[in-house]
Amino acid sequence: MEVFIEPIGRLMNEFSKLPGVGKKTAQRYAYRVINMSEGEARAFADAIVDVKRKVRFCKVCGNFTENEVCDICLRRDKSTICVVKEPKDVVALEKLHEYKGVYHVLHGVIDPMNGVSPNDIRIAELLSRVAEGDVKEVIMATNPDVEGEATAMYIAKLLKPLGVVVTRISRGVPVGSELEYADEATLARALSERKQI
Ligand SMILES: [Zn+2]
Repeated sequence: MEVFIEPIGRLMNEFSKLPGVGKKTAQRYAYRVINMSEGEARAFADAIVDVKRKVRFCKVCGNFTENEVCDICLRRDKSTICVVKEPKDVVALEKLHEYKGVYHVLHGVIDPMNGVSPNDIRIAELLSRVAEGDVKEVIMATNPDVEGEATAMYIAKLLKPLGVVVTRISRGVPVGSELEYADEATLARALSERKQI
């Protein structure tokens, strides 16, 4: 016999699909939902369905957006492109309120050990954005780990013949770490003290 009746077990199973949620936490979340009013529970479920229905990737930069092209691409200075691994890195940089340019989200980094080749991430899209002309600087802001460094170097080599300045965020961000976990002062320094590569 199952310990939990079917609807509770099912909800716990769904919660346990979230990162960092083990059995105990899934049980706590499920019990909390049982204590919600029907309206609260519906709002909760609707938010999940809505995010899947409304959120898509900007066709220019690859960041999350509700529209075809995101607000950052529409409104900001297109002469500087900051290249990051994932949408969450855009959030980390935007929190600084210092960067005025646009972004390019690669959706991964080159990682041959795990079968990720240059063709699997959005490098071709970046090259065509730069080839269009108005870009003066491309900031490589991939994480300062082995794959992030290698990806930055690989892309820099492809960009240089296009006559654009390529810079790398400074080592202010601890080696091997991820941008999203760097404190804001460190990240701001890494961005402002970027060096040409
Ligand atoms: Zn965009």
